[in-house]
Order: sequence, then C-alpha cells, then structure tokens
Amino acid sequence: MINSLKDWMTNLMFLTLPLFLAQVLWLDRPRQSYRMRWWHMGLAAGIIGILCMSSPLLLYQGLILDLRQVALIISLLYAGTRAGLLTATIILGYRIYLGGAGTAGSILSFILILAAYHLLVRRYRGRGGCPRMVCAIILSLWGVGCVELIFLLIYEPVFHNPATQLLMLEFALLQSLSVWAVTYCIELMLRNRELRGAIEETRKLKLVSELAASVSHEVRNPLTVTRGFIQFMRRPGLPEEKRQAYIDLALEELDRAEHIISEFLSLSKPQMDRIETLLVSQEIRYVTDIISPYASMNQVAVLVDLSGNCSVSGDRDRFRQCLLNLAKNAVEAMPHGGSLHITASRTGAHAQIIMRDTGIGMTPVQLEQLGTPYYSTTDKGTGLGTMFAYNVVRTMGGRIHAESSPGSGTRFTLTIPCVPAAHSSSR
Ligand code: ADP
Ligand code: MG
Repeated sequence: MINSLKDWMTNLMFLTLPLFLAQVLWLDRPRQSYRMRWWHMGLAAGIIGILCMSSPLLLYQGLILDLRQVALIISLLYAGTRAGLLTATIILGYRIYLGGAGTAGSILSFILILAAYHLLVRRYRGRGGCPRMVCAIILSLWGVGCVELIFLLIYEPVFHNPATQLLMLEFALLQSLSVWAVTYCIELMLRNRELRGAIEETRKLKLVSELAASVSHEVRNPLTVTRGFIQFMRRPGLPEEKRQAYIDLALEELDRAEHIISEFLSLSKPQMDRIETLLVSQEIRYVTDIISPYASMNQVAVLVDLSGNCSVSGDRDRFRQCLLNLAKNAVEAMPHGGSLHITASRTGAHAQIIMRDTGIGMTPVQLEQLGTPYYSTTDKGTGLGTMFAYNVVRTMGGRIHAESSPGSGTRFTLTIPCVPAAHSSSR
C-alpha cells in the first residue's frame, strides 16, 4: 500500500518549494540579475530527486517508489537534454549508492523516459505551455508504465498480484497529478512574468506618448509666436528698434522651445551616461554659483551649509541638472523674495541633501502631482523639471521626499547612497 498521503505531500513539497523560491528570489525582482543556466536546473532537479527518494511513497523488497521521475521530466522540459542528463546522473548515482534489487530497473526506466522525451520534443517545442503540460503528463504515464513493465519481468509473482497492480495504478495517478500540479505552477509563473513585462512596456509607451503630446503642445506655442514676429518683420518701414525687439523676442521663444526639447530628451534617456564619483559639496557649490545671480534678481538669499560631506556615484551633468531644477523651482516659488537653504550631511550610509525654501508652498494635492509630466503651475513651465530630478535620484539608487504646506515653503530631502570617497575632479 502507498505509505501515506503525508509522504506524497512531502515529495510534492520538495518539488514545489524551489518554484516559490524562484518566484521570490528571481522572477519578482524588477531587474533580473540572475540568468538560469541548464546546469542550475539540472543540479537543482537532481537534488530534489534525491530528497524525494529520502521520503518514498512505497518501499517494497528493494523497490522504491517516489516522485523522482517528476524531477527528471521537469528538468528535461524546462532546461533541455543536457539538464535532464545531469539530473538523471545525480539521481541514478544516488540510487546506485542505495543499492537493492530495483537499481537496474530504475536505470532502465530513466533511459526509456529520455528516449520518449526525444521522440516527443519536436512535437511540443515552441508551442507554448499547454502542449508542454500534455507532454509532461505523457512522459509521467510512460515512466510509470516502464517501471511497471520492468518490475513485472523482475518481480513477476508479486506484480501479478491484483493488490500490487492497484498500488501501481494509485502511484500512476499520484505521479501524474504531481506532474500536472508542478507544470501548471511553472506555466503560470512564466505567463505572469510575460504579462508583467508587457504591462511595463505599455506603461513606458504611455509615458512617452504623454510626454510627446505635452512637448509638442509646449513647442508649438513658441513656434507660433516666432512665426508671428517674423511676419511682423516683413512689414515695410518697420523702425529698426522694433525690428531688434521682435528679433530678441523670437530668439527668446526659440530658446524656450529648445529648452523644452532638451528637457524631454534628457528624460527619454534615463540610464546614466558617465558614472563618476561625485563630491556632494562640490556639486552643490557649483549649482549655487549658477543659481545665485537668478536668486538675487528675485531677492532670494541662498544659504548653504556643507558641514557633513560625502561622495555619491552618478552622472555629473545629470546630478547638477537635478539640483539646479529643484533650486530653480524654489526660487520661482518665492516671487516676493525669501531664502533658500541648502544643506548636505551624511546619515549612516547615505548622503542627505535638503533644499528648503520659504516660498508659496504646495497643497497636499499639488504635492501629490509633483514629479509627474504636465504638472506645472507656472506660465513658462514645462512640468518636466521635477520629474527629471526624481528620475536622476532614482537612477542613483536614492529617493526624494517632499514636504510642503501653502504659505510656509517647501522642503525637498534627497537621500542617496554614499560611495567611498575618490579623488574627484571638477569640470
Ligand atoms: P516647471 O518648473 O516647468 O513648472 P517642474 O516639474 O519643475 O515644472 O515643477 C512642477 C510644479 O511643481 C511647479 O510648476 C510648481 O507648481 C511646483 N513646485 C515645484 N517645486 C516647488 C517649490 N519648491 N515650491 C512650490 N511649488 C513647487
Ligand atoms: Mg521647474
């Protein structure tokens, strides 16, 4: 009689546990750093086969029945012949080590499964999950059939016994059920991964199309204005100073269009170009030098405190652009003057940059929209500046946290992982 349901469940657990581990450690990761190779699968299935043998469903006069064939079938179907051969070698090696009358039969049944796999492989290859599951069940039934046939020859008197036949039928059912359950789980996991990939792609396309719509809308305005000025300039007898003023305005509008396009282009290239070790204090000083004239024009005092210093890793130009975007927003948020505090410190393994302004602030609803394309409350704004900043910090492995309340200003906290300081050169 089959020992107990408990042994079957134990075998099934050995077969399914690695699937959950694969899901958590590999498939759920956003960036798959791990690439499965044939021998990984072959080795894992071999170990699972040995574990199954340690908890057999039936032990009878040197005959051991367990779900090791399922491990072999999975290895063959999902990682190919080489993986299957490795699994078979590991399992049979252990079977030979255990010894007993069933050893030869076990080896023979594995050879017959490998042969059947070769006959079936052309039929199901490249035809998706369902044929693969059917193939797995056929191989499983074939495997049990082989065991039955071999042992009918070896243990003839016992196997003619109706009780033993019933037992083999029971085993065939349990093994087929197991192979179906395991392949079903694997197929489900693979399909989910494909779907996730497709959703990611769609999301990216949606973002690009939204951005493209916003950019073309934003670029059309300056172009229309420029066209108007050029038309004005064609008027005969136009005074020279007016002509100059129109040219200046047209150039200003073209610069604005160019600015919008360059912000859009910098967004569509989220990966870093040139990764360097950046000294946080040095980059902040650079940005404050640039923003200071603009700030003083708007009666904004820029106060910098660079007490704690550390280095981060990233693209220098993008990091500067990110800080500049945030600083510029802060100045723009203080139309009647105020102060912009920039502090850099080190908290554990992270660099913390705080940009605090005394500007108009934002409501919780506005704060929630920050970092999304389109969102801008200024006339000349593109709504891309903060989005770019969020992108850059994310690519550097950090995050931005914004706090604000209307009338009392805004505080941006950038937390970026530190790297060991290196000799950093300024450009
Ligand atoms: P843009 O500056 O082109 O409008 P941004 O993405 O840089 O686009 O900013 C989006 C919007 O977020 C701004 O229009 C502004 O309303 C709001 N914002 C950003 N930073 C601040 C800040 N420091 N204080 C108040 N509002 C801000
Ligand atoms: Mg801005």
